[in-house]
Amino acid sequence: MQIDINQLKQRLDQVKERIATACQQAGRQPDEMTLIAVSKTKPVEMVKAYAHLGLDHFGENYVQEGVEKAAQCPALTWHMIGPIQSNKTRAIAQHFNWIHSIDRFKIARRLNEQLANERAPLPVLIQVNTSGEASKAGVSPEALPALAEAIAELPNLQLRGLMTIPAPSQDLESQRKPFRHLRQLLAQLNQQGFCLDTLSMGMSADLEAAILEGATMVRIGTDLFGPRAYPPPK
Ligand SMILES: *Cc1c(COP(=O)(O)O)cnc(C)c1O
Repeated sequence: MQIDINQLKQRLDQVKERIATACQQAGRQPDEMTLIAVSKTKPVEMVKAYAHLGLDHFGENYVQEGVEKAAQCPALTWHMIGPIQSNKTRAIAQHFNWIHSIDRFKIARRLNEQLANERAPLPVLIQVNTSGEASKAGVSPEALPALAEAIAELPNLQLRGLMTIPAPSQDLESQRKPFRHLRQLLAQLNQQGFCLDTLSMGMSADLEAAILEGATMVRIGTDLFGPRAYPPPK
């Protein structure tokens, strides 16, 4: 696998510049933002190249693929951002440092059981469906408070915030709407006594909208790694 490090650096500079510009518009500091490089379907050599260029947060959708990369680069911080099947929770608990995609209690309970007790609690996010019928992934806003309360009881998990993947839309204003909704849901939970500080929202096409609405983690795949070849690995 031949890696063009100059091309990767160029892409990274462009993404950083977009983040900086959006932060400036929002009156925020770029260092409030964690850039997660979504390396799904891409070779570990590219991960290592970006680590060399200074990135240390990486996101994966597919458990097996993520576990293999995490095992090769254990010093990096690995984020599970894809759908979670209950028979994969053990591998996830062992290899990932953050989980963004919890959308039902069963998954949280299994992760909690499978985490070694001596480890620091695993930071997790609840994935919320902010697009209604347009998307099936994520808990509904109505069911969110009960799920958050149940997860907060689990000693080996640390509930840190919310994540969403909105239905794609083109203009900035319609991109902002679901992100604003997620921010409001987080604020409501905090009013009820939670202490949540993380909003994982924004991908290559809508990172500006997400930053304007208060994202603290953006998840960037295509604009760092180039287009993905499908079908993705199992
Ligand atoms: C693939 C993926 C991303 C990255 O998407 P791009 O549009 O390629 O930046 C972010 N978040 C999740 C959950 C993903 O599955």
